[in-house]
Amino acid sequence: MLRLGYPVPRELSTIANRHSQELLVHAFRKSLLGKILLSLPLAALLGLTLMPAATAQIGQSLEDEAVVWLQELIRTDTVNPPGNETRAVEYFSAIFDAEGIAYETAESAPGRGNIWARIEGGDEPALILLQHTDVVPADEQYWTIDPLSGDIRDGYILGRGARDMKGLGAIQLATFLSLHRSGVELNRDVIFLATADEEAGGFFGVGWLIDNRPEIFDDVGFVLNEGGGASQDEGEVVFGVEVTQKVPVWLRLTAVDTPGHGSSPRPESSVTRIVEALYTLQQNPFPPRVIGPVADYFAGLALDMGPEWAPFYNNIEQAIEDPDFMARLHQQRPGHNSLVRDTCSMTRMNGSNKINVIPPDAWAELDCRILPDKPSEQFIAELDELIGFTGVEIETIMAFTPAISQTNTRLFQAIESVTQELHPGSRVQAAVSTGFTDSHFTRDLGIVSYGFNPLITVPGEHTGVHGNDEQVPEARFRRAVSDYYAIVRNVVID
Ligand SMILES: [Zn+2]
Repeated sequence: MLRLGYPVPRELSTIANRHSQELLVHAFRKSLLGKILLSLPLAALLGLTLMPAATAQIGQSLEDEAVVWLQELIRTDTVNPPGNETRAVEYFSAIFDAEGIAYETAESAPGRGNIWARIEGGDEPALILLQHTDVVPADEQYWTIDPLSGDIRDGYILGRGARDMKGLGAIQLATFLSLHRSGVELNRDVIFLATADEEAGGFFGVGWLIDNRPEIFDDVGFVLNEGGGASQDEGEVVFGVEVTQKVPVWLRLTAVDTPGHGSSPRPESSVTRIVEALYTLQQNPFPPRVIGPVADYFAGLALDMGPEWAPFYNNIEQAIEDPDFMARLHQQRPGHNSLVRDTCSMTRMNGSNKINVIPPDAWAELDCRILPDKPSEQFIAELDELIGFTGVEIETIMAFTPAISQTNTRLFQAIESVTQELHPGSRVQAAVSTGFTDSHFTRDLGIVSYGFNPLITVPGEHTGVHGNDEQVPEARFRRAVSDYYAIVRNVVID
């Protein structure tokens, strides 16, 4: 066990928070309702299946705590770069110390802290509650509030990370501490894991831990991470569970040829080779194809669509054969177009540094995202076949391994049954993401990993994820705190 032993900065201390909780608990004990509730058996209060509404007093204080945790996490500056995630590690350490929970920490580089703690349970494969503690930078001049304020304004908790993902981080902490406090026997270990660097690829976080602290992932059956999301449109609530992602394959194309003076161009140069390779790529989009999880996802989306889209989404295998539909999809729904084909975005290029010099080499970089049904090597070989005639070399900057998490699991069933019970009429939708999270690391280990957040977003709502005035509505955040706990309880308690 590696303990960093850094002193906790005063502003991160939860002493004040704890003090106010004690006062609340004291007042609760003295109240009539408190006396009645406290006279009930503990198991009845905690609700061994689902928390009934009658225990709102208990849930209420957990939600109060989670709001404060979220505010304090937002105020903990972990903007990446540089990260400084050890500050978040210190924050969690102080809470675990106060709760009497053992934990371990490790820095992948100075200031790049990771922390994990485990509640021991039975022999079922363990569940990891995974969160990243870093956040993307915020440009203060476009915000109407200090991005690290964490203050509540008009019912919204504001600040960088409110959604991505300190909000879900606080929700996971609430679940983890509640399980610990309840003392209920668990059917499996539950691991709290807060890591660095997700926003920059996770190589100082989950990627590093897999290489350097592999024991964390021994005997783990499930990971619950960010991704997915819940939405409510005209009353209908849909909970998205992200089961797979497009696989990033980041490539650099390099061409080398005879340099010379700009006044006397040869038929070919390093730059013309790059241009020809990119032009070929642009003229030959990768053919559309449908993988199983995308077909399911599109069929689910069709339920909320009008006649101009629904028939196509319902039968997407056939729809991709229709060039008019594909053109419309690409034009109007580029994100969904990306789910039915491999794509490459041309994002960077470089030629000469002087206008009158033909350079000896030139390069371009491609952000390619492939469907998770074939290895990246195969994709690169196909690409080479397409543009190799131009003489460019393809170099891999970064490529992940494709993996899909199955949905026939106890965890998926729990998400379905508990959300159905707590939100009658809602449905759960397995989803495929065009972006990537740390889940690809754990899916590569063969661990079923779901992106899931019960926080409900309504149409047109300003979320500010990676943008300005990132925010989360306090009331729906509170609801998500108790919903998440109910789901996890269902899986870890028999
Ligand atoms: Zn995130």
